[in-house]
Amino acid sequence: KMSDNNRKKVVIIGSGLVGSVCACFMAKRGYDVEVFERRDDIRAAVEVKGRSINLALSHRGRKALNSIGIEDDVLESAIPMKGRLLHSAKGELKRVVYDPTFNQCIFSVGRNYLNKKLIQATTNFPNVKIYFNHLLTRSNFEEGSVTLINLKTCEEFKRNADLIIGADGAYSKLRLAMQQTPQFQYSQQYIEHGYLELSIRPQMGHKMEPNNLHIWPRGKFMMIALPNQDSSWTVTIFMPFEKFENLSTPKKVLKFFQDTFPDSVDLIGENDIVDTFLKNRPSELVSIKCSPYHIGGKFLIIGDAAHAMVPFYGQGMNAGFEDCSLLDDLLEKNRNDIAKTIQEYSKVRVKNAHAICDLAMYNYVEMRDLVNRIGFQWRKSIDHLLFRSFPNKWIPLYNSVSFSTMEYNQCVCNRKWQDRVIYKIVMTIGIIIGTIVIIFFKSFIYK
Ligand code: FAD
Repeated sequence: KMSDNNRKKVVIIGSGLVGSVCACFMAKRGYDVEVFERRDDIRAAVEVKGRSINLALSHRGRKALNSIGIEDDVLESAIPMKGRLLHSAKGELKRVVYDPTFNQCIFSVGRNYLNKKLIQATTNFPNVKIYFNHLLTRSNFEEGSVTLINLKTCEEFKRNADLIIGADGAYSKLRLAMQQTPQFQYSQQYIEHGYLELSIRPQMGHKMEPNNLHIWPRGKFMMIALPNQDSSWTVTIFMPFEKFENLSTPKKVLKFFQDTFPDSVDLIGENDIVDTFLKNRPSELVSIKCSPYHIGGKFLIIGDAAHAMVPFYGQGMNAGFEDCSLLDDLLEKNRNDIAKTIQEYSKVRVKNAHAICDLAMYNYVEMRDLVNRIGFQWRKSIDHLLFRSFPNKWIPLYNSVSFSTMEYNQCVCNRKWQDRVIYKIVMTIGIIIGTIVIIFFKSFIYK
């Protein structure tokens, strides 16, 4: 798209999930892309410890992968999850399908597998160069440069570019530098719950129904399990830190599991449960909001660097991939005018990213508690009934977030509108029934 001598130069910090996808988008536009990643090349590593071993990929993420030509490839190794399978404390199962109308589903994908695949995808573009073991240390917004250090040789050097993108995750160095500039808004919230990952080892075939996201909702905490290709499961328990701390002996841990998640004990294995609890500390969960996402005419943050969120809507990565689609769309619209694009990007994206951060927080309550409540189940049924009758008008919240590209902020407005409509319908029915009862009694009394 661009002649060789006016090719724009882009520097991307981080070749995580979002940085790699962004590199493909920018390369596809014809830009010269350099990616600097502090870790080693994970394609060569035998095993990399990730934060969660698998992730739910949904519509927004798929759309971005489709644009860079690797959606089918990724989906081939993914496991479709059609709904939630709720495990009661007695081991009874209850299915809640995500989309009974159109049978849309989300997909469980291995984190390391996906990251390797995405880094590999950048090699389809000769105009991308990835430098592993390179750490961003400083950003100079006046000069329009970043300073990096080669961790193997300890050599320090500067890089200039037309566009410098921080895709360096929740603890982003580039965002840290932005925080020191005037008018930059920033807030972070660590929730009082942490998470610990366990696993159900590969078996001869899945021992639980694989095409579901399994949830053990227990009111104030929960456990979930996502399927892997090799018939193993990644099990994650989310719970208040205080509760983790109380489980300090093998006996306490086992009793807790036998009382709370009895049907999981044999699947995970008593020894593995005790080992995981006593040898690991639960990890923190942070939600980060900031604004704007750009500084000047060439610095931008995307992905977790801009909007880390708690994982309960399964949207962190999906939103990050959508960041890349949006950036690409705006560059197209603004004819590669980078300064104009990143300004517009912030304007459009901040409100939507803040909306999904809030929704992710809300969804924890839904997953661990509301799913068990009659009112919630009743509301879901109404939503799906109306969705089936008016598929273009009545899109339930979960569907709009996971199976559409409706702006996140719009998903929230849409839900508020639906709440008002349902409230009015319920009130009207109430008034009609009340009036009938009054008329009936009046005619009875005056007879
Ligand atoms: P990261 O994946 O953190 O990548 C950042 C990269 O930058 C890393 O490679 C890092 O090494 C590199 N880097 C950092 N600092 C520097 C530096 N100074 N110099 C050079 N390189 C640097 N999302 C979903 O969509 N679905 C899910 O089901 C889901 N489940 C989750 C479950 C859990 C428990 C957690 C914690 C998160 C989950 N997420 C999920 C969120 C998802 O993991 C993140 O949104 C996603 O990883 C963000 O990608 P990223 O590339 O922005 O950041």
